[in-house]
Formats: sequence, structure tokens, C-alpha cells
Amino acid sequence: MIINKYYKYLIKPDVRQKQIIDDTFAAVNFVHNCYLSDLEKGIRMEKRAVDIAARYKKEYPFLKQIDGSAIMNEIFHCQDAGKKHRRYRSENESMNSYCTANLPKSPVRILNGEYLCVTKLGKVKMAYSRPIPEKAVIKAACIMCCPDGKYYASILIAYEKKKETYVIDPDKSIGIDYSSPHFFVDDKGNRVDMPHYFEESEKRIHKEIKKLNRMVKGSNNYKKQKLKIAKIHAHVKNQRMDFLHKLSSDIANRYDVVCMEDLNMEQIASRFSLAKRTYDNAFGIFQNLLKYKMEEQGKKILYTDRYYPSSKTCGHCGYINNGLRIDERIWICPGCGMIHDRDVNAAKNIRKNCLERYYGRRVSG
Ligand SMILES: [Zn+2]
Repeated sequence: MIINKYYKYLIKPDVRQKQIIDDTFAAVNFVHNCYLSDLEKGIRMEKRAVDIAARYKKEYPFLKQIDGSAIMNEIFHCQDAGKKHRRYRSENESMNSYCTANLPKSPVRILNGEYLCVTKLGKVKMAYSRPIPEKAVIKAACIMCCPDGKYYASILIAYEKKKETYVIDPDKSIGIDYSSPHFFVDDKGNRVDMPHYFEESEKRIHKEIKKLNRMVKGSNNYKKQKLKIAKIHAHVKNQRMDFLHKLSSDIANRYDVVCMEDLNMEQIASRFSLAKRTYDNAFGIFQNLLKYKMEEQGKKILYTDRYYPSSKTCGHCGYINNGLRIDERIWICPGCGMIHDRDVNAAKNIRKNCLERYYGRRVSG
């Protein structure tokens, strides 16, 4: 089994390297716009990306100075977007990233855990915060500049992993129900909340945006304030990813089977409508992280039936309480009289339903 993964690192290009990177962003953007305008004009495009690239380089000789792989990749991207009928990047959406493949002619390498070597740039200082796995092959590097002015390299690596022969123990399972105002509640009665610092950062961002709106557009102070806001945003994003990574690793390490509801992102958004801005798509990210961390260990994520009424069903006697209102956090089962915490009962039902569906076994409690 081949595993593909991105490893992202902060890089610190010097003035000369920054110039080259910025020129490459501009060139890649230029190629993108050329491709779009060619399409609009009805120009017959060459089938092979390499021929399109050759034509552009002939028409616009300055492209010859630019990393050829970055240009090729942008053309691949355009061709791909066309095939899948995806929306093209709009013209004013500036693209502050480019990807370059690790090719014999233009190698991408990590040197002494200190430098990233990329064609045209040479040795760029990097914060090698986590080592790539042994025997991993570097496939490509994507260089990007974030709104806070920091540069990053996302390095795509591939490595061979033996197919997991892990034996799953269905007893080591957890049911998870996401519910506002908590992030999620599990079948053991644990409630996991999003840390409070997100709310605080939200307030800070709003305060700084108010300040920004009072400034003269385009002035130096305006630009400084914009950068300040971008930095807070980046900080919040890092904090959130850190929280989601830790939480998903913890669950993936502790359990063999995670049981969840089969919700799509829209349903998640509608559940979080009140707190949507704070939560945004954190749960979606969490699900994805958890999924790959479980799969990597040969473990499983199971989903309930789409229409399984996890909240309304009494986990004790199976009675379906159709009269249950959304604001009833605690309810008494009309069938057996058991007192339920809405979320914990739902999480228990989710676990039960999944294990019954996949393992055909009855679960107690
Ligand atoms: Zn009951």
C-alpha cells in the first residue's frame, strides 16, 4: 500500500529567494490566465501540457526563466479543472502558491534537516519541525505565501506501507455524537468542547476589523492593520488544527472502532447554525483527520444508517419518541421510564447501531 502525505514546513527564504518565489507566483498566475483566455477565444489547445507550455514560452520568453515544472503543473491543473467542470480560479483571486515536481532535472531535497533545496531557489532555510518517515520518497513541493506574510513548503511524500493486519476488537469502540453547544459527546458520557480561546480570538478579530474600517483604505496604517488581522487569523487556524490533531490522534490510538452518524457537511452546518462562525467546518476537518489516522492503523470508522433516529430512540427499550423536541436535553422514555441525557443516549445508540450493522452483534448498555 502506497501512502501519500503532505508535510508542511515553515521556510525562511532570503530577499533574493523571496523575489524568485514571488516571480514564480506571478508567472504561474499569468499562465493560468493565458490558458483561460485561450479557452475563451476558442483557440484549439494542444493535447499535451508540454506542448502548451512550449507555445507559451515561445510567445512569452520571460517564462523561460521560471521553474518549468511549476508552469507544467499549472497547465495540468487547468486541464484537470476543465475535465471535471470545476470553476476556474477567478482572475482577481491571486494565487500565492506553486507546485514543483521532484524531477531529475529539478530535484527537491531536504538537506541536513536544515535546508530545502528547490530548483531556481537553491538552499532555502527551513524549520524542519517533524522528520519525514524513513524510506519516504519526496514527490513534489508546493511553495506558498500566506496572508500573514509567512512562507511555507508543503512537501508531498510517498512511502510503501505493509497492509495492516491489525485485528480489530469491536469492544474497543466508541460512539460519537456531535451536538451543539459541545463539540461532541461520546457514549461513555464524556463531553468534548472546543477550547474557549477561539471565542476570545473571534472577539479580538472583530475589534481589529472595526479599527480597520475606520482607517483610510490603501494607507500604510491600513496595510499594517490588515496584516495584523491576517496574523490573528493564522494564529487561530494553527490553534484549531493543533486541537483537532491532538483530539483525533488520541481517539485513533485508544479505540479500534469509531461509530458516527452519516452526516454530510450541510447537515453539520445546519446543526451548528447558532455557533457556525466559531465552529465553521471544524467537525468536518476532525472527521477527515480521524478517518486517515484510523485507516493508517488498520482500524475502522463505522457509520449509522442515514435515517437512523439516534436521538429519538430509547437506548434501553428501543421505543421511538417521535414527540422529542430539539430543546429537550433530558427526556423520560414513555416506554420504560428511563431518564435519558439526550446526547449520551444518542452516542450510545450510534455505537449500538453501527456494531449491529457491521458485526451483527447485540450490544448491551
Ligand atoms: Zn425506553
